[in-house]
Order: sequence, then structure tokens, then C-alpha cells
Amino acid sequence: MTNTSPGDLVPLPPAALALGAQFAAAGHELHLVGGSVRDALMGRSSDDLDFTTDARPERVLAIVAPVAATTWTTGIEFGTVGAQVDGLRCEITTYRADRYDRETRNPEVVYGDSLVDDLRRRDFTMNAMAVSVSGDRTFTDPYGGLADLAHGVLRTPGTPEESFADDPLRMLRAARFVSTLGVSIAPEVDAALRALAPQLGRITAERVQVELSKLLLGAAPRKGLEVLVDTGLADVVLPELPALRMAADEHGQHKDVYAHTLQVLDQAIDLEDAGPDLVLRWAAVLHDVGKPATREFLPGGRVTFHHHEVVGARMARKRLKALRYPSAFIDEVGQLVFLHLRFYGYRSSEWTDSAVRRYVVDAGLLLPRLHKLVRSDCTTRNKRKAAALSTAYDTLESRIAELKAKEELDSIRPDLDGNEIMSILGVGPGPLVGQAYKHLLALRMEHGPLGRDRAVSELREWYAANA
Ligand code: ATP
Ligand code: MG
Repeated sequence: MTNTSPGDLVPLPPAALALGAQFAAAGHELHLVGGSVRDALMGRSSDDLDFTTDARPERVLAIVAPVAATTWTTGIEFGTVGAQVDGLRCEITTYRADRYDRETRNPEVVYGDSLVDDLRRRDFTMNAMAVSVSGDRTFTDPYGGLADLAHGVLRTPGTPEESFADDPLRMLRAARFVSTLGVSIAPEVDAALRALAPQLGRITAERVQVELSKLLLGAAPRKGLEVLVDTGLADVVLPELPALRMAADEHGQHKDVYAHTLQVLDQAIDLEDAGPDLVLRWAAVLHDVGKPATREFLPGGRVTFHHHEVVGARMARKRLKALRYPSAFIDEVGQLVFLHLRFYGYRSSEWTDSAVRRYVVDAGLLLPRLHKLVRSDCTTRNKRKAAALSTAYDTLESRIAELKAKEELDSIRPDLDGNEIMSILGVGPGPLVGQAYKHLLALRMEHGPLGRDRAVSELREWYAANA
């Protein structure tokens, strides 16, 4: 009978074997570690490989040189050397035995001599397994990571309180893994999250952003967000979300905007057609954040959220800015939040062609996402209502298609360009030309193509009134 060690279950890419041989020849250990081992055991491939070694960074650089296409040393202060080997990104980190300065949160980088100590300072047991690639594929799993992985449970190698106090980012990583790996959180980890959540405030916005993006792009972002909200982590990094759990009004008629939001997110994800879409997912999460601030109770028990899309777009932009997302990204999410409600005007009275044109032009490249967001924004259990809404949106989409076919809506320009405006009016370049151009564009939006003769006479009329 042969015994299969878990290490044998980890497929080792040629890059890992090549690196392992180099380290063995130099008399050092090299282990595949962390997410790479976890993902391989889950049958997932990863595009980058993490290794750990007893060799110090300068030595690592020399050892990898013969097999690496390129190397990088951006993380060398933290003991990490990067190397491109056989087309794979490899990161090789010297064993660490950090001490944490709990004031500044900067780990004091201290190299260690033992693999087991290195594994102890990793975030979760399922990320604290190693397979030797310099030796005989020995599998090292001192904290029961394999069993926890099999049960789908996140546990910490040491006590979660100490681990999270050492590095609060690990708390956000827990929520992220719930979304990306479909695992759940052990009760003692959950308790530590609740107790230590406020400490997350010490982590830089950039690192928070990376984790939130990974969480949202995961397979189960709803579950990850629920962890954030339930533990209080969201109060620190995304307070707009827990704020949606508004108290019901006295008539019990209020809808739970938080539950609604999570359902809209699920529904938006179901409509994705080209893989996970971070813009759409953020827009779904943030689409109603303006509601708490705009809620008003009307006589008769009705509730309104007047202009919540305007307030919400502003709040969404502010949050994403605080999280240091790029401004083009913020614009896209903000604009989707801003536009998500306009369709309700379409339902109450059929839109004119000009309203349809404006919808398309205002959405611009976001139009396919706006369709998905608006269609998702219906969580009524009343099947007739839902069907009516969806049919109304179908008719809007087909009107857009008709207008597009007729007018190439995407490239709406006024009937006359700047040069024509100047030559018709006999004027040179200046602000007046821009104003005339805008006027003609507005007419074009309002009425469709004017034709040259009418455009020229409209221009002359405008000029007579405004020059
Ligand atoms: P992914 O690559 O999918 O983001 P990962 O688990 O590989 O997930 P990395 O950020 O690549 O995450 O980190 C590699 C490994 O380093 C982790 O598996 C874990 O062992 C360790 N690690 C990363 N960040 C931390 C942290 N903040 N605290 C402790 N250990 C960490
Ligand atoms: Mg990784």
C-alpha cells in the first residue's frame, strides 16, 4: 500500500520545480506556500506562485538569476524577491518572525530560521500550509489547515485576537475569503472580528480598496458583505451599507433597503455576461445609499426618498474617493447611481424620443451596465408588478434600438460643425462658436436630425438673439 501525502496532490508547475532545484543545489530550502498551496488543493490554478525559504533576500536574488527571465525587488525590505520563471510570477519571501509595533502597525521585519514559525504568522490556517519543492515534496501543515480547508472554515494559527491586533487587515481578508473561497468563519474568529473591528481604521485606504475589490469580485460577494456588516467592519470601511438597515416606519411599510441592496447585487451578478464586473457590482451596492438621508414620511404612512439618486451618487463618489479608486472608475459608478432611477419616469409616462435620446447620451458607454442595474433594481415579490416592470424596460430597450438604427445615437453631433458655424456666421474662433455648437446639439437632441437648411436658419436665429 502506498501512502499519498497531501503534498503529492499539489500539482507543481515546471517553474516551481526549476526554482526548487536551484535552491537545493545552493543548499537552501524552498517551499511553495500560502495561497498557492491552498488553491492547488482546491483544484484552482493561480497565475502567481508564493514561496518561502531560509535563504536571505540577497542570496535569493543570486540563486534565482540563472532561471529567471526578470527579477524585481520592490518588496525586498519585507524579504520578498520577485522572479518571472517559465512565464509565471513567483514571489520568494525569506522566513519571517515579525514583531508588530501595535502603534504604527508597521511590522518590524525580522527574519526567522524555521518554516513552522513562518507559517505561524500567516493569516489563516488554510493559508499556512507548505510543500517543499527543494526536497521531496514534504507537506507541512502545523496548524491543521488541510482539515479546515476540507471543512471550509477560516481559523487562525494562533489566537485570532492576537493575530488581528498584529495586523487588522487580516480581518478584511477573512471577509474577502468568505466571498472568494466560499468558506465560513469559525466562531472564535467571528468573536474576534466583532471585538477588534474598529482597529481596521489603522489600515491604509489603498490596502482596504484592494481587499474590497477582491471581495466584490468573488463568487459570493453578498456573503462577504454580510460578514463586513455583521461584525462591524463595514462601520469602518463602508458605513453607507450598514446605514441601509433603517428602522421600519410606524406602519411597517418601509422596505428593508439593506436586504433589497443585497438582492439587487445578486440579481445584477446574474445578468453579467462577460465575467465579474466591478463597476456594476459597486453600483449595485451603492445605488440606494442616498435613501437614509432623504427619507421623509408623508401623511397616510407613505415614505418618499426624494432625489435619493442625486444624494446617493454624491455619497458613492465620496466613499470611492476615500477608498482611493481611480477617478474614471468613480465617475462610472457615480453616474450609474445617478441614472438608476430615471427609468421610473419612463414607466409613469411614455418617454418622448428626446427623453430616450438623453437617456442614451447621458449613459454613454455605461448603457449596457445601466440596463443591468435597472433591471436588477426590482425586488418586489409581486409577480405581476415585476413582470410589468420588466416589460416596460423591454420596450425602452427596443425604442433605444430603433432610434439607434435611425440615428446612430452613439455619435450624436449637431447638424453643423464648428467650421461650418464660423463660416455661416462669418465669425472667427471664440466662445460664441462653442455656445452656438451647444445650442445646435441641444436642438439635435430634442428633435433628432434637423437637416442642413433648418440647422442654418436655427443658427442664424440664435445668433441674432444672442450675439
Ligand atoms: P490571493 O493571491 O488569491 O489574493 P493569497 O492567500 O495568496 O490570495 P496573498 O496576498 O497573495 O494572498 O498572500 C500570500 C500568502 O501570504 C497568504 O496565503 C498568507 O499565507 C500570507 N499573507 C498575506 N497577507 C497576509 C497578512 N496580512 N497576514 C498574514 N499573512 C498574510
Ligand atoms: Mg497569492
